[in-house]
Amino acid sequence: YNIPGENISESHENYAIVYDLVTGIRFSVSRCSKIPSKITDDQFTQETKLIFNRQGNNEAPPTKYEFKFKDYAPEVFRDLRSMFNVNQADYLMSLNDEIGVKAVGSSGKSGSSFYYSNDRKFIIKTIHRSEHKHLRRILKDYYYYVKKNPNTLLCQFYGLHRLKMTTKTGTVKVHVLVMNNLLPNTVNISDCYDLKGSTFGRKTSETKRSKGSCLKDLNFIESNCKIHLSKMKKDQLENQLQSDVKLLQRLNIMDYSLLLGLRYLSKTDDILDENIKRLSMITHQNVPGAYKNTIFDTDGGIRAIDSNGEEMDIVYYIGIIDCLTNYSTLKKLETFFRSLKHKRETISAVPPYEYGNRFLKFIKESIETPGEVEVSVMKNSRF
Ligand code: ATP
Ligand code: CA
Ligand code: CA
Repeated sequence: YNIPGENISESHENYAIVYDLVTGIRFSVSRCSKIPSKITDDQFTQETKLIFNRQGNNEAPPTKYEFKFKDYAPEVFRDLRSMFNVNQADYLMSLNDEIGVKAVGSSGKSGSSFYYSNDRKFIIKTIHRSEHKHLRRILKDYYYYVKKNPNTLLCQFYGLHRLKMTTKTGTVKVHVLVMNNLLPNTVNISDCYDLKGSTFGRKTSETKRSKGSCLKDLNFIESNCKIHLSKMKKDQLENQLQSDVKLLQRLNIMDYSLLLGLRYLSKTDDILDENIKRLSMITHQNVPGAYKNTIFDTDGGIRAIDSNGEEMDIVYYIGIIDCLTNYSTLKKLETFFRSLKHKRETISAVPPYEYGNRFLKFIKESIETPGEVEVSVMKNSRF
């Protein structure tokens, strides 16, 4: 599975956006306090406004282009990054315009663009204003939930920003969210599934697949794919998913997906693995107060277990993505689409509780453990 897209060099039409974004992010991040202190309530609503220009000013260094940059709740996101094990220096190094990032045209209806850091560790996603507003509304809930749930599968949010720039067509405001890339570039992901638990229209065509699009629910069902886990991992994963979904339901969110990456291990991977483990040990040591996630193995994946309880040559990468869609926003969009005589199913909106329960049911039914296979075999035998 290769990330579709192109490198953004200076001649690329999106170069100015990317330059402004990474410059703004890098500068904002380096301004954060070095010593973490307890997050206070007013830090959730904090906003920092910066003006960048060619001459530079008291607040900001000189830049290639002129733009305005807003950083939201910087101290909260700084704390989130350290909880999620993201080292400040690594973060600054990854978000570097000189080495270029990859852009991916929107894969869906939302119109979002995705920019990957050069090392593919981070994703900058342009989000809709309503998603931006919703994140600011729920940030406190998200923060305290993540703090209490080191094993959460929810998308990791690293920063929320707004860029205001002048283009040929006028002034534009771009809202972006920085998050983790669930499918690490250091390993070879063969298949990727975007699962919602609904089936209507949830199929990726061969053409789209060959262009690098993720597979969906119907592809998953048709290929008879299962998530093979030990009983212990299954319980752990299901409990965490249940709790994560409960939060999303309470926050009135739906339309999210479980992203599932499959990596097939080969002999050469073992050597690579050792290097990754050594590398991740080094970075983990640098982050004070970082989390210990117990669901994932060292490199962030889960090793598959077959029906006999033996390790399989498959590693899963799992997480919940696209989790900022507020039900009322979607309803509004839906009405909008309907007014344009689009089919209702293009959105297939169901309320958050229904959505979450259907989602959980689908994932639970996709997990297979050694114990369960034995039980079904015994049921079929005469003894
Ligand atoms: P839509 O609302 O139409 O579903 P969107 O623009 O909101 O689209 P997402 O659903 O967030 O986009 O993501 C689209 C695809 O991008 C996913 O199916 C997945 O392949 C990839 N993707 C998104 N977020 C991540 C992530 N955190 N890690 C890895 N891949 C991701
Ligand atoms: Ca989505
Ligand atoms: Ca979306």
